[in-house]
Amino acid sequence: MGLAHAWAAVDRGWKVTVFERGRVAEGASIRNFGMVWPVGQTAGEPLATALTSRTRWLQLAAEAGLRADPVGSIHIARREDEWTVFREFAARGPDLGYDVKLLTPAEVKERSPAVADGVIGGLWSGSELAVDPPAAVAGAARWLAERRGVAFQFGTAVTTVETGTVRTADGHTWSCDRAVICGGSDFETLFPAEFQQAQRSGLTRCKLQMLATGPQPRGFRIGPHLAGGLTLRHYKAFEICPSLAAVRERVTAEAPELDRYGIHVMASQDAAGRVILGDSHEYDAEMSPFDSGEIEGLMLRELRQLIDLPDWTIERRWHGVYAKYPAALQLAVEPMPEIWIRTGPGGAGMTLAFGLAEREWDKAA
Ligand SMILES: Cc1cc2nc3c(=O)[nH]c(=O)nc-3n(C[C@H](O)[C@H](O)[C@H](O)COP(=O)(O)OP(=O)(O)OC[C@H]3O[C@@H](n4cnc5c(N)ncnc54)[C@H](O)[C@@H]3O)c2cc1C
Repeated sequence: MGLAHAWAAVDRGWKVTVFERGRVAEGASIRNFGMVWPVGQTAGEPLATALTSRTRWLQLAAEAGLRADPVGSIHIARREDEWTVFREFAARGPDLGYDVKLLTPAEVKERSPAVADGVIGGLWSGSELAVDPPAAVAGAARWLAERRGVAFQFGTAVTTVETGTVRTADGHTWSCDRAVICGGSDFETLFPAEFQQAQRSGLTRCKLQMLATGPQPRGFRIGPHLAGGLTLRHYKAFEICPSLAAVRERVTAEAPELDRYGIHVMASQDAAGRVILGDSHEYDAEMSPFDSGEIEGLMLRELRQLIDLPDWTIERRWHGVYAKYPAALQLAVEPMPEIWIRTGPGGAGMTLAFGLAEREWDKAA
């Protein structure tokens, strides 16, 4: 979010400094799947914002030499009720701006050798990009610094912000015309009272557990991003489908443990060939600092039904925490003149951030 605002501002002629308390960025933006995922956004402004972001990612990738691979995505149906939702979505989606169509089982297999047997059909979407999160975040910062003149202060925590002034933990005071606070899931350091108020209207933190295999042997590629029927419960886009309720009810009845931990399963693949697997969702009070073997087991159980990999050895395990503001695409608060708090894009920050920042800097012009 911070890099998106830095880019939007510098494009409009502002002189920009980014403060990052870490030596490098270590937040949600380097811990995700790297899925730029317009198909999950509801039609209208959310989808349009995601598609603006997509264009910005392609521009950034071309100019900074980063990966933004237009891999698309396939939702895989293994149950009839999932396939019914796909058919409903494919019937209405194109008129609403989604680049979607149905695939036969043979077409699914043609596009992804990683899909396991037992497929009823697939929902193809052509709009998704694959980016490599740690490389994308570090590379975007490098490009903004070297090519666009953005100054970066790494290892510098911001402790106070008032109109016209930013103070950092190293004792420096900086003057500014506008401050944009994109602190991710940190609600305590800056403007805690405003965050507490936002928490009363739904702002929350969410912890996700993730896994990655090692690089797959012999250059094996999964092709598009992959998701299953469980994912239909997770993205609001599918709420236009009357049959979605039946999928939800069936999952709740058959596997309440998946609801308990907010598990749905997806897979992406990075440039090195690692398959990134996830995820689960635990909110605020339920969040433990420790990762759960039970959750990992459930995710792998569901993933192994959906996809087939040459090598399932898990090389990496981690979790990430994002801020989510369910009432809107993001939390946008101005606690003082020319101070913007911008956080809470939930599970779609990679998909929305560039588009959100563009829209806001246009509006403020
Ligand atoms: C496991 C996981 C998987 C996800 N998968 C996807 C996906 O595939 N596609 C997608 O679109 N979205 C995905 N998301 C969501 C996406 O990653 C987030 O919405 C997004 O990264 C949030 O960006 P952010 O800039 O708000 O937060 P962050 O990336 O957390 O950045 C906040 C930064 O602010 C810094 N900071 C905080 N306070 C201060 C301070 N006082 N002074 C200085 N620096 C400070 C932190 O150090 C941090 O670097 C996923 C999230 C997770 C956790």
